[in-house]
Amino acid sequence: MRKSLIVISGPSGAGKTTVIKKLLQDRELKDKILFSVSHTTRKKREGEKEGEDYFFVSEKEFREMIQKGEFLEWAEVHGNLYGTHKNNVEKAEEENKILLLDIDVQGAEKIRQKMREKAVFVFIRPSSVDELKKRLISRGDTPEKEIEKRIKDAQKEIEEENKFDFVVINDKLEHAFEKLKEIVKKVISENQK
Ligand code: ADP
Ligand code: 5GP
Repeated sequence: MRKSLIVISGPSGAGKTTVIKKLLQDRELKDKILFSVSHTTRKKREGEKEGEDYFFVSEKEFREMIQKGEFLEWAEVHGNLYGTHKNNVEKAEEENKILLLDIDVQGAEKIRQKMREKAVFVFIRPSSVDELKKRLISRGDTPEKEIEKRIKDAQKEIEEENKFDFVVINDKLEHAFEKLKEIVKKVISENQK
């Protein structure tokens, strides 16, 4: 079965956004992959762009979208709502691209149940929870209370990693990027056969 989705999960601060942005800029990959821009009720961080990082919506709007069945999957993560719009998958199919999803472990589980055969599942984390905390602090855009919540949630998320096809340890960014790039290239080449 050809794979057309790559689900990337991992605790907050693992480096998912950083690695995905590098993949999207990579000369070899950029025309063959599409990032699944999620909807969220979380507040926009400094530097984030509407429609590029997320579609930022109110809780009311998000709940209406749930009612209308617009999401492929959605979940409450660290106290906010996040969801993958069904259009994202359609767009990737139309453009014949591999869709990269940055979603949490609950979202990954929903994709596993709905379209296991179409997806590859990758879990990213650094080698310690201490390192996660350091990264969230140094990113400088997350209030301390929220960092505590994200670290608490990280312990549970890491317990899920054995459900993933690949676990990528992001200690050295360049190594993690190369490992993920290999996975993406393999999916692309299988898809083109
Ligand atoms: P996530 O999207 O998983 O929450 P980010 O990509 O925002 O994580 O990364 C969290 C912070 O850690 C950012 O400030 C980022 O620059 C930094 N970071 C990412 N990868 C590494 C790495 N390998 N070593 C050190 N810092 C990193
Ligand atoms: P952040 O607020 O740091 O951008 O993301 C917090 C968490 O929400 C991360 O684990 C991220 O993977 C997850 N997330 C982002 N978009 C979605 C989505 O559409 N669905 C689900 N289930 N999780 C998401």
